[in-house]
Formats: sequence, structure tokens, C-alpha cells
Amino acid sequence: MLDLPGALSDSGLAAAIRTDLLIGGKWRDGSEGGRIDVLDPSTGKVITSVANATIGDGMAAVAAAHEAGPKWAAVAPRQRAEILRRCFTLMTERAEMFAQLISLENGKAMPDARGEVAYAAEFFRWFSEEAVRLVGEVSVAPGGAYRILVEHQPIGVSVLVTPWNFPAAMATRKLAPALAAGCTCILKPATETPLTAYAMAALMEEAGVPPGVVNVLTTSRSGPLVSAMLHDPRVRKLSFTGSTQVGRTLLKEAADSVISCSMELGGNAPFVVFDDADLEKALDGAMVAKMRNGGEACTAANRFLVQKGIAEAFSRGLAERMRALAMGPGYDAASQVGPMINRAAVERIDSWVREAASEGAKILTGGEADLSSGFYYSPTVISGVRDGAKLLSDEIFGPVAPITIFETVDDAVALANRTEYGLIAYVYTEDLKKGLQVSERIEAGMVGLNRGLVSDPAAPFGGVKQSGLGREGGHHGIMEFCEIKYIATSW
Ligand code: NAD
Repeated sequence: MLDLPGALSDSGLAAAIRTDLLIGGKWRDGSEGGRIDVLDPSTGKVITSVANATIGDGMAAVAAAHEAGPKWAAVAPRQRAEILRRCFTLMTERAEMFAQLISLENGKAMPDARGEVAYAAEFFRWFSEEAVRLVGEVSVAPGGAYRILVEHQPIGVSVLVTPWNFPAAMATRKLAPALAAGCTCILKPATETPLTAYAMAALMEEAGVPPGVVNVLTTSRSGPLVSAMLHDPRVRKLSFTGSTQVGRTLLKEAADSVISCSMELGGNAPFVVFDDADLEKALDGAMVAKMRNGGEACTAANRFLVQKGIAEAFSRGLAERMRALAMGPGYDAASQVGPMINRAAVERIDSWVREAASEGAKILTGGEADLSSGFYYSPTVISGVRDGAKLLSDEIFGPVAPITIFETVDDAVALANRTEYGLIAYVYTEDLKKGLQVSERIEAGMVGLNRGLVSDPAAPFGGVKQSGLGREGGHHGIMEFCEIKYIATSW
């Protein structure tokens, strides 16, 4: 059964939709585990259903990845690179189809979906280039008796667990470096957005990725299934992107077998605007940092910290821009903001805004939930939120911008750091010296200095504190899938 909305019924999307598990190069319906419904958040209706993997399916995927491992590791780096490059080319050629698929199951507006496809495809290109640059080291031991030879080996079978908010990019950010390093893997995408993952796996097969190198499983049994895989001695790596809460659980699971973990977790990004910022640039940056993906991004600006002298103009400008956004089904050409992922997300955001308003915060625009058809929450600006309220202490993951006023540079830094998270921060000032000093003092893995968007496959993405461990992208991304081998040698 496949029920596409009218706007996409003639798009040719139906032909790209795969709903079965991919294990060892074979598509399996996984009939023992039942099916999982996939919803269209723009309407709340069921689009189709996908296979629901059992623990047995998970073990079959581990076996397939393990069997394919030595052969894939032995493929020449240049050849692995060419295959990844073909993935980039195919994904770029089919960009519109992938954008529609992402918008259909995730709800994001088409401009965001197109941006995600371009970003996702770039990971294939970037890591095709990295595959042939895994250089080692040779040095003379300080005592002079032998040589220290260091090389990088593929870490082995890797379990990749991804969230629903970037169904393509969070997967390619792991798949591409894993394959470039010579690892085989099992991808477990979020149950909300499985269709993009399966379509990408089909594309990777077409590009020449051999059977068993990439296996894909959807399941409603994430906890037990991932736990079983992490307790199988053939698995050597976990790369997870998702919430800090689930990340903590998985770190404990991985500890039993001392599995290497890369963790891209939640954020609570401060967006700091100093009096000397260029107001228009700061507002442009704020809209990108807040509204990319309708606010459903780990990098989303969560707390706007604005210096007293510019606060009124900034608040007015932000409210005007947020009010002007057109909200509607993600795949409709007129929509600038789509729905949230599900009903629970809208209800959570609404309850946090109501809590703040009941404690005296002022809603400058928005503040309305609409669950009549689909899962919508209006772009919202709110000021005067009590310190410690959910909107400031937790990840909003929606289109709500709380504004807090500060007076001094030290106040801004203290407020910015008042969180357990440390993924990203944004700083706006025309004084570069101040901007760099503040960037260094803020506890975050990444800072956008006069920029509302930092994500780039060529740069190391990741957080400090409870936002994660390790980096994806850049040269660092491939190292997460490598073991360092030291050979002491005399000749
Ligand atoms: P989530 O943690 O609920 O789920 C992430 C993935 O883990 C999904 O595939 C889910 O099915 C799976 N999962 C859930 N419980 C599990 C368990 N017990 N064992 C194994 N797997 C389990 O997160 P989400 O709601 O899908 O995504 C939103 C979160 O992801 C936000 O906190 C966001 O900040 C974070 N995120 C972080 C980054 C980053 O790069 N730091 C990027 C995107 C999203």
C-alpha cells in the first residue's frame, strides 16, 4: 500500500520507495517482525509501512557485514573512492526526488529538503577524496634503535544509528567515512523517516557498493536490537546521532564490550548578539540558525541572548520576520515552514510556551498549535522567559525563539555556558577581537561567528560537554572509523 499526497502523486516518487530490510545485498520483507507505519507529518496520514526488524534480522545483518568486511577492506582506496564519488553523482542527479522524499516523511519545507540533499551528497564527495589520503607516520624512536611506524586500519563492523531530523545527511555523514576507511556497516535509521535511508541504500548498490557492505534495518525494537548488536563481538564501532538521553544509554551498552563510540547528541545553542552587531546581518543569521528545518536541528539557536542596547530593535525585527513565514505542507511550493515531526512534538512545544507565558513571558508573535490536519506549530518569538524554564534549559526542537537581555560581555558568556550542552554557539559583533575572545570562552564544539550556518562536510562537526564525543566531517570524520596500528620495526 502506498498513499502519496496529491502534490507528489505524479512525481515518480513511487518508483523510488523501498520498504524492505537490506541485509547482505538482499531485500527482505522481514515478515516475522511485522510492519511499521510511516506517516506524512504534513497531513498526519499513513503513507506506507516498512519492515520491522527482529533481533534475528539484526544478527543476520551483523553476520553479513562481518563476512563482507575483509574483502571491502582490501578494495583499493582509489576504487572505494570512485564508488563513493558515483554515489555523489547519482544523488546529485536525483536531488529533486530525494528532496521530495525527505519532505514527505519528515515534513520539512522543500528549500530545506533541497539544502539537505546537497549537504548529504557532499559527504560522499568529501569522503571519496579522503579515502585516498589516509596517511600514516614513520619516525625514528628517540633511542635510535628502531623505527616507529603508524598506520590506520579500518575499525571493523560499524553500527550507525541516525535520527529523523536529517534523514539523508545524518546517514551519509556516517556511511561515507565508514566506507572510505574500509569498514562495513549496519544503518539503523529512525522509524519516523526510513524511506530516505532505503532509497539511499538502493542508490549505493547502484553505484557499486558490494553486497553486505551497507545493511539497513528499520525496527520498532531499537533498544533490544541495538543492544544485541553491541554485545556481539563482531561489532567494533557505534556511531550514534540523536538525543543525549539515548546517547547515555548507548554509551553504557557499549561499555560492556568496550566498543568505540562516536556520539553526536543534543544541543542548546546560545545566539549572542552584541550592541555593535550589524542588525540586518544578525537577523538574517538568526532566521537561518533558528528556522532551518523549522527549528528541528541540533544546531538550532535555542536561546537568543541580546545586549540591552540592541534588544528592542532585534526583538521587533525577529518577530516581523517570523510572522511573515508561510507555513504549510512541506512539499507545497509556497511553504517556508513545514509541520513538526509528530503530534507529541507539537504538544511538548506548546506546553513549554504556555508554561513560560503563564509565568509572565510575553509572546511577540506565534504561540499557536494546529493539529487539525498535520502537526503544525506557528513560528514564535517570546521574551522575558524565567531563568530555568523549559524553553531555556531544554532543547526546544521547534520554531520558538526565546529572547533574554544581558548587559556585559561576562554576563553573555556566563549565560551562554549555563547549560549541560555544548554543541554550537552563534556570536554576532562587528568587533572581531571581541568575537574571537567570546568564541574561545564559550563551551561549545563549534561557533558561528557572524554566521547562522556552520555545517560543512569539510569541517569537524561535533560537541563538548553532554553534546557528544568525537567529530564528523573534515579529516577527523574518517579517523572515527580507523584504528591506529603501531609497528615497532628495525631494518
Ligand atoms: P532519539 O535519540 O530519540 O533517536 C535517535 C535514534 O536512536 C533513532 O534511530 C531511534 O530510533 C534510536 N533509538 C531510540 N532509542 C534507542 C535505544 N534505546 N537504543 C538504540 N537506539 C535507540 O533522537 P531523535 O528524536 O530521532 O532526534 C533528535 C535528537 O537528535 C535531538 O536531541 C538532536 O539534537 C539530536 N541530533 C544531534 C545531531 C548532532 O550532530 N549532534 C544531529 C541531529 C540530531
